Amino acid sequence: MFDKILIANRGEIALRILRAAKELGISTVAVHSTADAEAMHVKLADESVCIGPPPARDSYLNIPALLAACEITGAEAIHPGYGFLAENARFADILAEHAITFIGPKADHIRIMGDKIAAKRTARRLGIPCVPGSDAAITDDGEAGRIARDVGYPLLVKAAAGGGGRGMKVVRTPDELPHALAGARAEAKAAFGEDAVYLERYLEKPRHIEIQVLGDGKGNAIHLGERDCSLQRRHQKVWEEGPSPALNDVQRGEIGEIVAKAMRDLGYAGAGTVEFLYEDGQFFFIEMNTRIQVEHPVTEMITGIDLVNEQIKIAAGSPLSITQDEVRLFGHAIECRVNAEHPSTFRPSPGRIAYYHPPGGLGVRVDSAVYQGYSIPPNYDSLLGKLIVHGRTRTEALMRLRRALDEFIVDGIDTTLALFRVLVRNSDIQNGVYDIHWLEKFLETERVEDG
Ligand code: ADP
Repeated sequence: MFDKILIANRGEIALRILRAAKELGISTVAVHSTADAEAMHVKLADESVCIGPPPARDSYLNIPALLAACEITGAEAIHPGYGFLAENARFADILAEHAITFIGPKADHIRIMGDKIAAKRTARRLGIPCVPGSDAAITDDGEAGRIARDVGYPLLVKAAAGGGGRGMKVVRTPDELPHALAGARAEAKAAFGEDAVYLERYLEKPRHIEIQVLGDGKGNAIHLGERDCSLQRRHQKVWEEGPSPALNDVQRGEIGEIVAKAMRDLGYAGAGTVEFLYEDGQFFFIEMNTRIQVEHPVTEMITGIDLVNEQIKIAAGSPLSITQDEVRLFGHAIECRVNAEHPSTFRPSPGRIAYYHPPGGLGVRVDSAVYQGYSIPPNYDSLLGKLIVHGRTRTEALMRLRRALDEFIVDGIDTTLALFRVLVRNSDIQNGVYDIHWLEKFLETERVEDG
């Protein structure tokens, strides 16, 4: 096991990793930009190193500074969290060259899954069902037209390097195709520096259901059930829950085993998530994330398994400590991503938190790194924290969420808490009948008042 690890991240996920490391008896090194000198992850770590100015490219993405921080502190491994360098295969390679362990999957697996075209090809080869679409990057518009006819309309132009919902365009008729291709290429080039795009059938009313996996790179891999992340705004998840209200035990077991077997065949190491769209009883692979995800606590609450602890042990060379038979799903969990944003305009609201009172009690978990008097810097994403509740049934979890939201006070900045207070009382949400477009439609007609 490691004696000391460095956490190459900030905010709630840096704290989450710090907690797992401390429970394993591992010393922690926090890194931070000058904007984050007063951040909670810096205060709670055993040591900290300032790695640069506020812009992420000069600090949290600054690989030489991270290597120097390892050198100075003697950290043996780096946990990248999510975002920043978490899915950067070159970073994993560089760490290997410097004999520092990357707490994450093999660089080759990060590389394959980071290219959505290669990922889909790999998934298909491993027996995972995929969304019908082009098997390669689209290079000329004439060819695109032919492939589009085979795939069928409506379809989606997607960026091979995609992430965060960028570089995606819906095409309903053939005459819209050239414009959508050009638009998606430009957006992808600007966001990812690479303009390869591909085509996929556009599903009209799917749910987003993802399977959590753990592999040890030694041929063992298990699944830990699913999370339903259908409630999205601009393709970004807002509310996640598990188990999915749409699946029964048989469906869960079937798709889970398909994914676990694929990960065994791949020799996958670490935590990962295989994402699907689910429509009319069928699963369609869209991508795999080779990292810990924002919504991982949902799975932790229903399985009792600490996913970050498992990531660290796997990276240290331990075989999986849990077998598939030992994974038991208990009750229901819901996570709300609370952002420092206005609840109806979603305008970011950085600034000083004048008063802070998080909820507590049985089955309530708050993963956050803010505190009263803390100033949220304007330089990073607006996630303020995650409220996760667990109950024996979905109904119990919903009632618990309702009362936890009512207890939660954050003054001085705008937050999306008011949106969740409305959602938890909505009858479609209570009945579990929603798809990936539900929230956008809801927001078109409802105006959530502040407070
Ligand atoms: P990103 O990596 O940018 O997040 P994903 O491929 O994971 O992109 O897709 C993000 C979201 O976009 C999905 O959760 C879903 O809401 C929507 N989406 C992606 N592919 C399709 C599709 N073929 N049909 C309909 N919606 C899609």
